[in-house]
Amino acid sequence: MKKTLVLIGLAAWALSSVYAQQQNVQQNQQQRRNEWKPESTEWYTPVPAKVTPGSNGSAPSDAIILFDGKDLSKWQSRDGSPAGWTVQNGELIVAPGAGTIQTKDYFGSCQLHIEFKTPTPGPENTLQMKGNSGIMLQSRYEVQILDCDNNPTYVNGYVGSVYKQSAPLANPFTGTNQWQVYDIYWKAPVFGTDDQLESPAMITVVLNGVVVQNNYILKGNTPYTGLPKYVAHGRMPLTLQDHGVKVAFRNIWIRNL
Ligand code: MG
Repeated sequence: MKKTLVLIGLAAWALSSVYAQQQNVQQNQQQRRNEWKPESTEWYTPVPAKVTPGSNGSAPSDAIILFDGKDLSKWQSRDGSPAGWTVQNGELIVAPGAGTIQTKDYFGSCQLHIEFKTPTPGPENTLQMKGNSGIMLQSRYEVQILDCDNNPTYVNGYVGSVYKQSAPLANPFTGTNQWQVYDIYWKAPVFGTDDQLESPAMITVVLNGVVVQNNYILKGNTPYTGLPKYVAHGRMPLTLQDHGVKVAFRNIWIRNL
């Protein structure tokens, strides 16, 4: 009899223990629900600035217009003298030998829209001389411009390449004498106070609506000879390359990011 009473007592204790544990779990779950309200993960400032979008490649309301078909007022030569390229029929055209031109303003991370057209090639315009120019982000990281219609040149020098670093994922170039549209999303490299690289540059490039660079992380600058490397810098001008070919540009705008 005594033994039976002991067993009943033990069973009752075990049951009450399990019940207490369940109660604890339920209480904890309820407590968590109380702590994480929907509004716990919502914020209200800063309110994003109102921007009126463009249409068919035209500039959004907050963009800086770098070329609107009229003049070179936003540009200069590398030595600070007036830019020597030609403005004609709403187009900005490379004047071979006049040299690379750069913006008067300095930029870091940005969204860049730029349209270009490569001219009918002469007999000497083959491979890297066929419609070559370039967009140098922060004056040193080149997104290649090249006529890649039946052009058997090296692929990391194709249109849409990060020059000599990353070949494009596709070749959406539509043809000589036809306007091509670049949209470029640029995250500038960050350097510490000791000039050491803290985070590398990253780029996404869309050519004619096709992604040709997808969040590519740059290894450094884009030299013609030698390996890329980083040298500390801050905001820098945007540069367009004179590679001896009369490449035309239009509708150039940029947004600081
Ligand atoms: Mg080039």
